[in-house]
Amino acid sequence: MRTKFTLGRVGIVVASLLCAVAPPWSAARAPIAASGSSVEYWPGADYDPSIPSVRRVLGFEFGAEMARADQVTRYFEALAAAAPQRMRTFEYGESWEGRKLIYGVISSERNISRLEEIKSAMAKLADPRRLGPGESAAIIQSMPAVVWLSHSVHGNEPGTTDAALLTAYHLLASRGDPRVAKMLEETVIVVLPLQNPDGRERFINSNRAARGLEPDPSPLSAERDEPWPGGRMNHYVFDMNRDWFTQTQPEMRAHVGLMLEWMPVVVADIHEMGANQTFFFPPEADPLNPHLTSKQLSNVELIARNNAAWFDKAGLRYFNREIFDGFFPGYGSGWPNYQGASAMVYEQGSSRGLVARRSDGSLLHFSDTVKSQFIASLSAVEVVANNRSRFLTDFANYRATAVAEGQREPVKAYVIPEAPDADMAARLAVTLARNGIEVRRAEAAFAACGRRFEAGSYVVSAAQPTKRLIRTLLDEKTEMKADFVKRQEERVSKGLPDEIYDVTAWSLPLMFNVPAVACNNDPIVKGTLVARDWQPSGTVIGEASSVGYLVPWGSTASARFLTAALRAGLPVKSSNKEFTLGSVRYPAGSLFVDGALASENLASRVLELARQSGARVTAVSDSWVTDGPSLGSPNMLHMPLPRVALVWDEPTERYSAGHARFVLERQFGYPVTLIRARRVSAANLDGFDVIVVPGEGGSYAAAFGKRGAENLKNWVQRGGVLIGLGSGTRYLAEKGIDLLPLKLENALESDATKDSSAKAGAGAKTDSATSDSDKSDDADSRVDAKELTTEADLQKAERPLKAPPRPVAGVLARADVEDEHWLTAGVASRLNVLVTGNDIYAPVRLNDADTVARFAAPDQVLASGVLWEENRRQLAFKPFVVSKATGRGVVVGFTADPNFRAHMAGLNLIFINAIFRGAAITYDANTQ
Ligand SMILES: [Zn+2]
Repeated sequence: MRTKFTLGRVGIVVASLLCAVAPPWSAARAPIAASGSSVEYWPGADYDPSIPSVRRVLGFEFGAEMARADQVTRYFEALAAAAPQRMRTFEYGESWEGRKLIYGVISSERNISRLEEIKSAMAKLADPRRLGPGESAAIIQSMPAVVWLSHSVHGNEPGTTDAALLTAYHLLASRGDPRVAKMLEETVIVVLPLQNPDGRERFINSNRAARGLEPDPSPLSAERDEPWPGGRMNHYVFDMNRDWFTQTQPEMRAHVGLMLEWMPVVVADIHEMGANQTFFFPPEADPLNPHLTSKQLSNVELIARNNAAWFDKAGLRYFNREIFDGFFPGYGSGWPNYQGASAMVYEQGSSRGLVARRSDGSLLHFSDTVKSQFIASLSAVEVVANNRSRFLTDFANYRATAVAEGQREPVKAYVIPEAPDADMAARLAVTLARNGIEVRRAEAAFAACGRRFEAGSYVVSAAQPTKRLIRTLLDEKTEMKADFVKRQEERVSKGLPDEIYDVTAWSLPLMFNVPAVACNNDPIVKGTLVARDWQPSGTVIGEASSVGYLVPWGSTASARFLTAALRAGLPVKSSNKEFTLGSVRYPAGSLFVDGALASENLASRVLELARQSGARVTAVSDSWVTDGPSLGSPNMLHMPLPRVALVWDEPTERYSAGHARFVLERQFGYPVTLIRARRVSAANLDGFDVIVVPGEGGSYAAAFGKRGAENLKNWVQRGGVLIGLGSGTRYLAEKGIDLLPLKLENALESDATKDSSAKAGAGAKTDSATSDSDKSDDADSRVDAKELTTEADLQKAERPLKAPPRPVAGVLARADVEDEHWLTAGVASRLNVLVTGNDIYAPVRLNDADTVARFAAPDQVLASGVLWEENRRQLAFKPFVVSKATGRGVVVGFTADPNFRAHMAGLNLIFINAIFRGAAITYDANTQ
């Protein structure tokens, strides 16, 4: 049997099914018609019936239904089983909810039979330092090029996964088409059909559960209006398309590991956007990251022009350049560039279900979205197949020129000292290793760039094939083109939104708050390479002891020790003040596991916890403290096992809620109870010691109501610890809630504007004339003349009264920490904070609350990123963390979210203090 398969027919199949079930009395309603497309997407295609179609395996036509995660796996396995010489299907990981992450590799029989050889050839080509003479040319001549198609990192962009099924089918089933034969001969196509199976299942479940008689195209229909938090994100509510270099999520860690194993030369990360949009492919919008190369941009453009030709033939519309910038390196279309691939984003307008009605009244069918993504995918493969040696050569040159630049440029290496925070230094080193960067851990002390570094410090040579990634991740600043920044300043000063798509600062040393010293020489140091999965083990120094064990506070390892020890039921105390015992100075917050209160096997239990957490623990045989509180002092706080709740669901800001939960549960191993916001008004909260209020996406005031606010206040009075994060703090400060004495500021310039309007008002009183259009009967219709001599005068005059500050896309700002406060025990004196949006609070009077951390002086406050000049001046010295004792409880507000994307490792400790030391001080107050 010969099957002539076109997507035009799929559209008709869908339509005829729908028409068949449409009842005659629904005539008043516009019928759900076919997409109208009759274009053959691949003219002359002839399919081999031995290759199973989606209909045969899953029971529906391509594009007639959204394949579920398990169906995707089943179909890829069926394809590989039908054509094992041309396709293999592999597992590469697992999602949080235990779903398989799978990918398919499709190529010619010859290539499929030598996949390991191809991988090792690419690994060789990727490292010019190890290539022998002529080896590079031989590889380029003899090896296929790897093309990477990754789909549905966002689970609610459904067509992209089904397009992957169609792409795989077409490549395997197509007969007698020399173009397809050439694709298989010249390339190896790696297809990841579904990067985010948990999100897709959430999306499909809500869609199918709400479906009725026929698919509903209305944007208001429940099936297309996803319930909180939506399917875009993974289980822990992370946008995985921002997680490529920090790799906090297992799905992304697996994906990055896989990409480093295969080393593709072209990557298409395939997405969907709003239904009213057509299709986006590159060139991307400004600003571009300065570490992208002109070859990469021209390679992507070569593919884009082929896409355009195919789209023109198929009657499809597209656009480029206007949105989706290439500055942030954490996108799926960004990060692969820094390994030498030419990477790009595809974005199709989404039907977000089986059919969508666009604003022009036309219908967008799911099958339409599958079609365009399929065509654009094949177009990319076609271009690489026709230009195989160009793409391989450019890849090899990328890696070679990166090494050469690292040898030539002033920054020749970075050194990450082991002190002051060995745990965080190790975390940074492992994060870099997971990015395919070579990091060496020094076996002995060494001197470099004019100073001495201890054994255990890390060296990152710039003379590596990943040099451009090293620079963009370790430099404090990545420069954005000055003329672009100037244009944005002008736009925002006119009240227009800026054109920046994501944060403008991501320097890992700043986010982790560890130094990375840029060196102008590359130190020759004997050391071991840091492995991607290395986890430094903690230790116990000294013999088993009946007095107990001390853990110096200040590292995230010590915080992991605390949470694990509490869960294990060990008696833990925390010092309010620093003290000296033996020759060691212990910072405030240091933990004392009291041997007098412990049950048996304390030594082995402490050793186990130290190993797992990475903490460095000291056994105490002599308890004599020479300075500061003794181990039996009332300043040694009993640490209770707090029951922690997190406000969840509408109107919570979903990312803030997800990130907070993830940090506590997965980075610190501590369970959290999620309470839906609608329960807050009436729930008995006494089962909890700590409640975390994440940022708000809607209005907590409306969701909690008066009763909810009273409930929270009373609970704090009785001894609760209430913690606001980012815009959640806005609620705590709201008028009528008044849990924190904070007030949001208007924009800085509004003072000047207020002055001029006050003057104008005074002048107007002298003039009694009123215009017809002015219904007010006072004299405000005429004001004193004001001469405007500069653009700045004009802007001031036109600026609205009491405007909020201008929103900021995302910068790293410095904040200074007050010592001697329970919240800042062990915390570094200076922190880096990710500031986004426009919440800036007025200073708080000393007798109203404690400002525990505040942003630095105007010339210090900006650590990295693009911050409007006016915001920089306004943010200086303003509160970052505020705490207020209330009744027997305490309220803490973070004016910026400390858990942003779980990237801000340097803010972990102050957040942990708020929860665990907060619970301890209120416990102490309540038991006195
Ligand atoms: Zn997307």
